[in-house]
Amino acid sequence: METVEKELLRGGQFLVKESNCEDIFTPEDFNEEQQMMKEAVMEFNDREVIAHRERFEKKDYAFTEECMRKAGELGFLGVAVPEEYGGLGMGFVSTMLVCDYISSGTGSFSTAFGAHTGIGTMPITLYGTEEQKQKYVPQLATGEWFGAYCLTEPGAGSDANSGKTTAELSADGKTYKINGQKMWISNAGFCKLFIVFARIENDKNITGFIVENDPSNGITLGEEEHKLGIRASSTRQVFFNDTVVPVENMLAGRGEGFKIAMNALNVGRIKLAAACLDSQRRITTTAIQYATERKQFKTPIADFGAIKSKLAEMAASAYAGESASYRAAKNIEDRIAIRQASGNTHQEAELKGVEEYAIECSILKVAVSEDVQNCADEGIQIFGGMGFSEETPMEAAWRDARIARIYEGTNEINRMLSVGMLVKKAMKGHVDLLGPAMKVADELMGIPSFDVQDYSELFSEEKDLITRLKKVFLMVAGSAVQKFGPDLEQHQQLLMNASNILIEIYMAESAILRTEKNAKRFGEEAQKEQIAMAQLYLFNAVEIIKKNGMEGIISFAEGDEQKMMLMGLKRFTKYTNYPNVVELRNTIAEKLKAENKYCF
Ligand SMILES: Cc1cc2nc3c(=O)[nH]c(=O)nc-3n(C[C@H](O)[C@H](O)[C@H](O)COP(=O)(O)OP(=O)(O)OC[C@H]3O[C@@H](n4cnc5c(N)ncnc54)[C@H](O)[C@@H]3O)c2cc1C
Repeated sequence: METVEKELLRGGQFLVKESNCEDIFTPEDFNEEQQMMKEAVMEFNDREVIAHRERFEKKDYAFTEECMRKAGELGFLGVAVPEEYGGLGMGFVSTMLVCDYISSGTGSFSTAFGAHTGIGTMPITLYGTEEQKQKYVPQLATGEWFGAYCLTEPGAGSDANSGKTTAELSADGKTYKINGQKMWISNAGFCKLFIVFARIENDKNITGFIVENDPSNGITLGEEEHKLGIRASSTRQVFFNDTVVPVENMLAGRGEGFKIAMNALNVGRIKLAAACLDSQRRITTTAIQYATERKQFKTPIADFGAIKSKLAEMAASAYAGESASYRAAKNIEDRIAIRQASGNTHQEAELKGVEEYAIECSILKVAVSEDVQNCADEGIQIFGGMGFSEETPMEAAWRDARIARIYEGTNEINRMLSVGMLVKKAMKGHVDLLGPAMKVADELMGIPSFDVQDYSELFSEEKDLITRLKKVFLMVAGSAVQKFGPDLEQHQQLLMNASNILIEIYMAESAILRTEKNAKRFGEEAQKEQIAMAQLYLFNAVEIIKKNGMEGIISFAEGDEQKMMLMGLKRFTKYTNYPNVVELRNTIAEKLKAENKYCF
């Protein structure tokens, strides 16, 4: 166990420490049990969800519930639940995998699944007392009961701790009376249990409660919301009117609700990223199949460079999303194992293990939710007019993808969190950003090296580039912290720039490390297209980093300082040998066409 600890990077440390490709977990490392799970889930998704796509589009909420029950019967709702509470007690990677492969049929089912297994159940498994876990978790794990999570209110969305729902202790000290209005509550229409956040007296922070859904106890629901997408996901307002809850149903302690809400969301965010992955694969596959069949100008449209480019970009972003999601998932799993080995209970270990990688969870949530949206958008474009029709799956995929940028913390909030948490970790001494940032500052003042680098080995230039891209982040964020101190949080546009740089570094590095690992074990020829995807992703990342780096620098640096930083930016983002991106895209697209599906 000690050796794992030595090699395991802390959350956010990817920015200042190199990772060996051998230390990265990749989807190609799934063990036999995970492969079997993946196949079982895919089979379920094909049979029960995808085959009935039109029922979801017609807002058949009862059908969503029926599918959830079937998922429960097969054990899929309990994968993350420890065995002693009726679940399968699988590791974090396996739980990600289930989320990934069960989610591509429709956003309606994947939202119901995510809301129940994540934010509807996790607060109890992570923070519940033994009695609470014994009483509630087994029913949730099997799907006998469904869970929902009531945080958002009309006046409290992103500012989640500002809710007005109240919890008042009774005179005999035995119960709380809950009053308030919650909105946008997924699964509200069919759940049996709510996790409710409410304020006791004038507490600074809200408190979490487990509330059974009993209409005779002052609980009423609003009508189903009419939404852009995820049409058969039940989303309703929930009203609590003198709802009586026994004191034993308080989660963790008084005022601990905000912490619970945030930690539940960390898990929710990385799992939401997973839930977008198979959608990207399926959208890409559907687009390829259409493009090889559809002819214009007597030519399959898949043979046109403009379409090949889209297909290749769609595949490359899905590939990077997979690479980064499973890399982070295994880090979390290993961190949980280390904590358990050092005496933490499973509950404490899981909580701290996920919290450690909260930065990566936010990065993944933002990156993958935007990738799936772009992927669906290009999918529509490849389908042309048919893409705009309800008769083809693209328009629903596009509408369904849209919500992922909003819930589990909007992408703006997650962008700010990713940088904010990193700065906090640096302040606490958990990640040494200051030392590396000072080195970069020295390097900027020094004379650049004109040594010719040997880039003959696979990815040697790309890895060198990644090291330099990290310097861009350290240069921009380091100077910004120095300049603004705690006021940095007021400079949101700068935080967006810094976050965009951070996100691209993590995603590009993950794609490269995965491919390097696989090229070493399967051979470079067998990984030709994956190499092309990793290089293409990095090329795009460099462009994004250049733009965001420049915007950041010119927003706060002037004169010589600005000049020096812009020169640094140029040096840190420079290719010696530019990849021929047209060739890279053609290589990827030809493989996709030959296999007639996303095949990586
Ligand atoms: C279909 C659906 C299902 C949902 N399911 C659930 C659920 O099950 N349980 C639950 O509790 N909630 C749920 N939500 C609510 C969801 O989490 C919130 O919608 C989300 O957190 C954003 O809050 P808001 O809608 O109030 O937007 P606002 O917070 O009003 O945000 C509006 C815009 O302002 C930006 N913004 C807000 N604050 C800042 C800031 N400080 N700095 C910069 N920009 C800012 C946001 O990024 C966004 O772009 C769901 C929402 C939807 C649409």
